Amino acid sequence: MVKKIVKDDAPALGSKDSPEDSKNSPDTKMVTAGRKPEWTGPVVNTPVWRASTHLYDSCDDLAQGVKRASDAEFFYGRRGSPTQWSLAKAITEMESPETSGAYGTLLFPSGVAAINIALLSILKPGDVLLMSDNCYDPSRGFANGLLKKMGIETRFFNPLIGAAIEDLFCDNTKAILMESPGSLTFEISDIPAICGAAKKHNIITLLDNTWATSYFFPALEKGVDISIIAATKYIVGHSDVMMGAVTSPEKYWLRLRKTARQLGQVVSPDDAYLAARGLRTMATRLKTHEQSALKVAHFLDARDDVKSILHPAFPSCPGHDIWQRDFRGSSGLFSVVISGSKKRAAAIIDDLTLFGIGFSWGGFESLALLVHPEQYRSVTQWDANDAVIRLHIGLEDSDDLITDLKRAFDKYKDMA
Ligand SMILES: *Cc1c(COP(=O)(O)O)cnc(C)c1O
Repeated sequence: MVKKIVKDDAPALGSKDSPEDSKNSPDTKMVTAGRKPEWTGPVVNTPVWRASTHLYDSCDDLAQGVKRASDAEFFYGRRGSPTQWSLAKAITEMESPETSGAYGTLLFPSGVAAINIALLSILKPGDVLLMSDNCYDPSRGFANGLLKKMGIETRFFNPLIGAAIEDLFCDNTKAILMESPGSLTFEISDIPAICGAAKKHNIITLLDNTWATSYFFPALEKGVDISIIAATKYIVGHSDVMMGAVTSPEKYWLRLRKTARQLGQVVSPDDAYLAARGLRTMATRLKTHEQSALKVAHFLDARDDVKSILHPAFPSCPGHDIWQRDFRGSSGLFSVVISGSKKRAAAIIDDLTLFGIGFSWGGFESLALLVHPEQYRSVTQWDANDAVIRLHIGLEDSDDLITDLKRAFDKYKDMA
C-alpha cells in the first residue's frame, strides 16, 4: 500500500495554512515560505520529487483524485510534486496573501511562457489589449504575432500616462500589460493610478515585475491583478535555470490554471529545486546588487563621456518620484547613454573583462549589452543615434567593476 503524504483535504497552493508567516518581514518570509513539514520531511529543503506517475491506493482513490482536481495534491507529473508546490507557495507568500489577496502561483518553463499564457488565459478574439510601450521585446512580439492572428488587437501606450490611460479605454479593452521599470529604458509607471483606472472599468491589469520582484515592489498590494516574474532572473539568481511565475488572486486562478494545464505547462522538479534554493538568498543578493549598481551608476554619472543614467533611483529617470513613492529599493540592472557612437559603445563593451556579453541578467555575474531601444517603440520616441549600454551589476566587488569600466571607457575616450 502506498502511504499518502498529502491529506485528501490538501489546501490549495495559496490558502493561509501558515498564518504565523504573515507577521514576518519579507526577508524572513523568503527563508520560511513554502517549507511545509509534509513537503520537506525532516530536512530543510523540499527534496527533488522526480516523478511522472503518482501511485494511488485503489481505483476509487484515483477516481476521487481526478474529481477533486486540487492543486497541491499528488496526481500526475504534469501537476507537479511537492518540489514545485513548495516553490509556488513560497512565491505566493512573498506577495503577502493576507493583505493582497494573492491566492496561488503557477510555474512556467520560462518568463516568456508565463507572460504569454497569462495573456492567453484572459483574452479572446475581438478583445483589445493595452501594452506599455517599454515592454520586453518578446511581449511585443507575441502581441504583434499570435495575438494578432487570433484577432486580438494590441494598442501601445506611453509608460508615463498614469490615470490618463482611461482616455484610451474602449468597450473592448480587456487587459493592460505593464512593465515598470521598462526593459532597456527604465521609465517608472504609476502602477496604482493605472490599476485604479482599470478597476473602474473591469479591465484586468498584468505586471511584468521581473526587475523589482515582490521584494522591492509588492505588485498585488499596489493594485495589480496578475503579477508575473521571469524567475530566470533574480529568483533563480545563478544563470542556470529558465522559469516564469504567475501569481494571482482567487478570481483569476481557475482560468489561469486551466489555460496552463491545457497547454501542458510544467517545470521540472530539478529546476524548481534550484529556483527555490535561489529564492532563499534573494533578499541578501538583491541588497548587494542594489548597493553595487548604485555605486557603479554614480561613478558613470560623474564622467563627462556619459550623457545620462537610466536608473529609477536617479532623478533624471522618468518616473523617479513614483519609484520613490512605491518601491522598496532598486535592483542591479540599469542602462547608460554614453557620448559618441554605438561603435564606441561596442568597443567599450568588447574590452571589458569582468562583464560578460549575453542575454538575460539577475545572476551573480555582471553583464554588458549594447541595446537599441528605438527598435522597440510604437508611440514614444527614442533617438536612434543614442549609444545605450545596459549593465547588470553582479556580486563581484564593485570597486573591481569600476576599475574595469574606467579602463575601458578611458581607452576609447576619443573614439567618435
Ligand atoms: C528576461 C525577461 C523576461 C523573459 O524571461 P525568460 O525566462 O528569459 O523567458 C520577461 N520580462 C523581462 C522584463 C525580462 O527581462
